[in-house]
Amino acid sequence: MKLLVIEDDPANAGFLERSLSENGYQVDLALNARSAESLAIEGNHAALILDLGLPDEDGLSLITRLKGYGVSAPVLILSARRSVDERVRGLDQGGDDYLTKPFALPELLARVRNLLRRGVGSGENATTLRALDLELNLIRREASRGRETLQLTAQEFALLEYLCRNAGRVVTRSMILDQVWGMRIQPDTNIVDVHIYRLRSKIEKPNLPPLIRTIRGIGYVLRDK
Ligand code: CA
Repeated sequence: MKLLVIEDDPANAGFLERSLSENGYQVDLALNARSAESLAIEGNHAALILDLGLPDEDGLSLITRLKGYGVSAPVLILSARRSVDERVRGLDQGGDDYLTKPFALPELLARVRNLLRRGVGSGENATTLRALDLELNLIRREASRGRETLQLTAQEFALLEYLCRNAGRVVTRSMILDQVWGMRIQPDTNIVDVHIYRLRSKIEKPNLPPLIRTIRGIGYVLRDK
């Protein structure tokens, strides 16, 4: 599930990107309103986390503009502006939730989960993914096969989510590196194979049909039939 973080303070932006990634989200980062605009329009994000004090435009007018372009992802405002008036204005002008800085990470994560839960469940923003007897709950970040809950790390979950979104289609190692690890160039690494191996050891069961097929020399496909 992909989030867009719009924050111009490098330390804060880095912290948010790292923390959200560690919790299994894919993160796009924009350091100003202009790059936020193009990312939001093409990005299909499940939610936006928005700082109001941006160098090139006020966050509130950015929200108005994005809504005008049809961006429907819920917006969590994260701002140092903490007076009641400012918070009310933020919520009145299109913010779906408002958290003041400094903030506690667990509270931010809870509010993000809450926003995602409220989000409309279809297409890219669906909250549950299924393939055969595999089910992924994108809000609770839980995976199960049949009745059995799978114990996955955040990284394994993100990998399985990507395979599941592309169920029935072959995905290459470089697509996985790009989409799950955010690596554009393919380094000399077997990180994908290692994670697929670990994932298989957790999700494949001796009495059930295999889910992940290896396409030799190309990549992998998650079976959907
Ligand atoms: Ca700022």
